[in-house]
Amino acid sequence: MPRKRALRLRCPICKKTVKSGDAEFPFCSERCRTIDLGKWASGAYVIPSPVTDADEQLPESMPEDPEGES
Ligand SMILES: [Zn+2]
Repeated sequence: MPRKRALRLRCPICKKTVKSGDAEFPFCSERCRTIDLGKWASGAYVIPSPVTDADEQLPESMPEDPEGES
């Protein structure tokens, strides 16, 4: 008997189940779609990523306080 089955896929980014009618299908959210887009684009062209936009801040290795709490 014909069974109407909902097309359900998983978000390729976070593996979350996504319904075919979702606005961001096949992704669960715009965020994941952007992430996937970035993955694909990484080899073709570079898009500015707000996540890595901040200046690279290397934590300065602070000398241990000889009078540290003990
Ligand atoms: Zn997702």
